Amino acid sequence: MLQKFVEAGYEAIDFEEKADIYIINTCTVTNMSDKKSRQMIRRAKHLNNNAIIVAVGCYAQIAKNEIEKDIPEIDLVLGTNEKNNIVKYIEEYINNNKNVENISDVMHQKEFLDFGKVTYTEKTRAVVKVQDGCDRFCSYCIIPYARGRVRSRKIGNIIEEIKSIVEEGIKEVVITGIHVASYGKDFKDGTSLIDLLEEINKIDNLKRIRLSSIEPTIITEEFLARLTKLDKICNHFHLSLQSGCDETLKRMNRRYNTEEFENCIKLLRKAYKDVALTTDIIVGFPGETDEEFNKTYNFLNKIKFYQMHVFKYSPRKGTKAAEMKNQISPELKEERSKALIDLSHKNEKEYKEKFLGRTVQVLFEQKEGEYLIGHTTNYLKVAVDFNKSLENTIQNVEIVNLEKEFLVGKVL
Ligand code: SF4
Repeated sequence: MLQKFVEAGYEAIDFEEKADIYIINTCTVTNMSDKKSRQMIRRAKHLNNNAIIVAVGCYAQIAKNEIEKDIPEIDLVLGTNEKNNIVKYIEEYINNNKNVENISDVMHQKEFLDFGKVTYTEKTRAVVKVQDGCDRFCSYCIIPYARGRVRSRKIGNIIEEIKSIVEEGIKEVVITGIHVASYGKDFKDGTSLIDLLEEINKIDNLKRIRLSSIEPTIITEEFLARLTKLDKICNHFHLSLQSGCDETLKRMNRRYNTEEFENCIKLLRKAYKDVALTTDIIVGFPGETDEEFNKTYNFLNKIKFYQMHVFKYSPRKGTKAAEMKNQISPELKEERSKALIDLSHKNEKEYKEKFLGRTVQVLFEQKEGEYLIGHTTNYLKVAVDFNKSLENTIQNVEIVNLEKEFLVGKVL
């Protein structure tokens, strides 16, 4: 959206400065996100009472009436599909001083909304969105209602975008979407995620392909037989587990059980040396008894993820889980969250220690304090003495020390 404004001749300034137009790209993933979105809208009005205030994105998509009722000062509420034409909507509003119909029915949207080529500011890594929407309807999640059904971006457009960012010097792409594993499900010709990755892998001068979160069920022997042939795929996989207890997973409406999940982990560990496995976990899901939580804890203790992102369940209005009985107290959620965060730190330390004295390949990104930092393919953060000429290069580094935030190494 920023790029669209800049292309149309607007100047982008910091949100805290006095602007003529404020765009709040809202989030609705939790009730707290809604609250923060509303706070930002009010904050914008406070910064310049005469400005045009625009709310766009997921919260705007599903709660237009609520926003207009609670915050009458809002000028324009635009849905998720309207982002592409945001400049046009705002200029129409300015010229005619009237609000046009601007929340399209995302549930019946069949085509991926392509923003075209996007210019990235990060020096070494670019996030490339290949898919939108989700058909899974997990019981705690509002996303399918805010983003609609699975829509995949055409392979040709993705390749064209990646080629152009590689020409700008980017060496690593992160393939992302709402539910990346569903890539291609809406195409009639059977194209799937692995077909896309095979095409991306062919791009000259691209060094690394990192997958953002993927659903475990995509990891099969057939999938890995093709994936492991692609030399640019990073040995880092983020598989959202959410719970290590089958009963809880069922109430969450997740489509796998712990046994299936563990099989995916075994396949990945067999296929990729030093693979880094990360995950998301929700604690305090409605009805999570001590016994259920203990099952989760023991399962996680067995799997030993490199990192776990632990979320305390928060009820999201409009979802099934928010209506479930036996909501868990904040104190218990806190206690369970702490136990898992401690476990995560312990596992992370153990995983990193395995690399002491070894040589790894690091793509260097930027200065941090006295160091130049970068990441390995398995997402270890590595720091060496600062040397500007190494920025955006891949180097062999010997790991000599482990500090709290990163591994310290020597360039060979
Ligand atoms: S798969 Fe992810 S995005 Fe889709 S409903 Fe479940 S949690 Fe939400």
